[in-house]
Amino acid sequence: MENNVFTYIEEEGKRQEKNIELIASENFVSEDVKKAVGSCLTNKYAEGYPSKASIEKFCLTHPDYVHYGKTGRYYGGCENVDMVELEAMYWCRKAFHTDYHCNVQPHSGSQANSAAFASVLTPGDTILAMNLEQGGHLTHGSPVNFSGNIYNAVHYTVDDRGFIDYGDIEAKIKEFHPALVVAGASAYSRVIDFARIRGIIDSLSTDEYKPYFMVDMAHIAGLVITGEHPTPFGLADIVTTTCHKTLRGPRGGLIFSRPELAKKVDSAIFPYSQGGPLLHIIAGKAVAAREACTEEYRAYIHQVVLNTRAMADRFIELGYEVVTGGTDNHLFMIDFTRTHPNLSGKAVQDELDKHFITLNKNCVPNEKRSPMQTSGVRIGTAAMTTKGWKEQDAVECADRIDRILRSM
Ligand SMILES: *Cc1c(COP(=O)(O)O)cnc(C)c1O
Repeated sequence: MENNVFTYIEEEGKRQEKNIELIASENFVSEDVKKAVGSCLTNKYAEGYPSKASIEKFCLTHPDYVHYGKTGRYYGGCENVDMVELEAMYWCRKAFHTDYHCNVQPHSGSQANSAAFASVLTPGDTILAMNLEQGGHLTHGSPVNFSGNIYNAVHYTVDDRGFIDYGDIEAKIKEFHPALVVAGASAYSRVIDFARIRGIIDSLSTDEYKPYFMVDMAHIAGLVITGEHPTPFGLADIVTTTCHKTLRGPRGGLIFSRPELAKKVDSAIFPYSQGGPLLHIIAGKAVAAREACTEEYRAYIHQVVLNTRAMADRFIELGYEVVTGGTDNHLFMIDFTRTHPNLSGKAVQDELDKHFITLNKNCVPNEKRSPMQTSGVRIGTAAMTTKGWKEQDAVECADRIDRILRSM
């Protein structure tokens, strides 16, 4: 039998070229990122972290680099991959303008969160986060995920308009005394006020009780880099992210932490939860982080924000209800409950698929339908902005979606 994989890769390439991609967590990486990810680095085993000798060598050309965390590999022949990993650590910190420790080895955002939790928590500890139905992520304590099984998860809510209820964060910390407070979301279109949450945590901390604060910036990482969203650095003890959403890098995760947590975080990745690092992906992370330091990337993220706002505003003009009434970032949700009660998120997703427009169904505040049906959709413009979209393209796409939905 023939191996047909390359046929399907070609077909998928065509699909990605042809379709209008509105999934808020997707993007299109550069040719350089693809080159790194498809390189010979995939062949190398390098359990552990760059050696002291490699770090010294790296510092000769990067005198501003300060190393935290573990050192030393378990295999020979790591002199080149050591430098690749150090480049990734260096450029990821540069991109986010931070001197936090950076672990570049998480295989995904979920792996990053799993290790971040393990670095500061013991099983049974209480975590406080946003729940999945209201915009949080599976790894923020969902009962079907490791996070909701290993830890005792409690959740804060959004208000009736869909904004995070900061009063509820305060009340839940008082009531449940979580060991870790998590901020960050997969479906939230507004600024998350990290400083305010830090303030709430500080005001409730005592000599005996002092919770950790973690920010999962997976979706908004690119906006944090360019300053379109306030940064969590300096406020959170641990910051996790994916690399493949607005950051526009390869699939994978990162964990940043205050230097005093560096060794705990490194141990929580290897040997606790992962084996050998994916050096080809880490090379891709270095390339993407370097790209994110450019003026071009800054302009790109700014255009993402402009396009998202233009598209959300157009849907509002066309009579749709946008959750929270608008957007501050790269995505927004439409709630069909009041304006189009006959439309479910699933039906809309399926119909748009037929027209080569790709998006995902999404729960809305006070959702009445099941998570398999939902009453809303999530729309993001990061991918299409990489393809060159300007505001007018976003508006025309909203008009096109409206025409399709009106014929449903
Ligand atoms: C996407 C996402 C993740 C997980 O990323 P994977 O790479 O899919 O595991 C974690 N947290 C948030 C908030 C996300 O949006």
